[in-house]
Amino acid sequence: MRTPGAARTTRLPLGQSGTVRRVPGPLLAVIVGLATCQVGLYLTTVVLHRAMSHKALTLTRRPMFAARALIWLTTGIKPREWVAVHRKHHAFTDVEGDPHSPAVSGFFMVQLANVVLYKRAANDPETVRRYAKDLAPDRWDLALFDKGWLGLGIGVGIFFLIFWGNWELVVIASAVHVGSYLLASSAINAIGHRFGKRPYAGRATNNQWLAWLVAGEGLHSNHHAAPTSARLAFKAREIDPGWWVIVALRRLGWAQVRHQEVRLKARATAPAAAGR
Ligand SMILES: [Zn+2]
Ligand SMILES: [Zn+2]
Repeated sequence: MRTPGAARTTRLPLGQSGTVRRVPGPLLAVIVGLATCQVGLYLTTVVLHRAMSHKALTLTRRPMFAARALIWLTTGIKPREWVAVHRKHHAFTDVEGDPHSPAVSGFFMVQLANVVLYKRAANDPETVRRYAKDLAPDRWDLALFDKGWLGLGIGVGIFFLIFWGNWELVVIASAVHVGSYLLASSAINAIGHRFGKRPYAGRATNNQWLAWLVAGEGLHSNHHAAPTSARLAFKAREIDPGWWVIVALRRLGWAQVRHQEVRLKARATAPAAAGR
């Protein structure tokens, strides 16, 4: 005889043999989408940002290759384009020429349409040539990693396997992943240059709540003050979850940090900080 509770049992879409009680498929799809977003954000901060853009750490060959493959599958981003756009942001921070500054383009434009601003800058070959000279495409880029849509398509195929062919759940997980990744990475550029504490010169801000959501990148004032620091938390009460990943990579022998101490730029402690 079936009980009312048993009637709500939901089949686990991970395989036909297992069932999980009271885990609705759409909720599972949202969780998988959010988890994939977090994987993408950690890859973005540790590899694209701290390692490739600022050389704050270096990864050994195989972990770097694995990271490039995962970036391709979870974001479809071409690293040299991301690096070039980001270095240009540091070269023209919050002045004309900054690819994604709320002071230049407006807060909502950066928060809601950062991908448009990003593509505009990334599609400029002069930007890539000038700011990513050190990242010439290798044979893997030419064969696979430069084909961003192929990577994302294979990523959707992996969701298809995870959800055992349930397209509804594949669409939910993909939409949650893409939407949350775009909003979260935009927030670093928008909120991280508009709202929060400014312990150092410039308009970049620190927001610990944002740092929890975006793998430490919410400590953005710290980052602009010391861009070659692999660790974004400078004080005891600041927490940088991305650093925990770097510590783990170092323990595995897969990463080396450029320097342990925080090296502030001379301008970072200038008394008349803009945007205060
Ligand atoms: Zn910034
Ligand atoms: Zn940076």
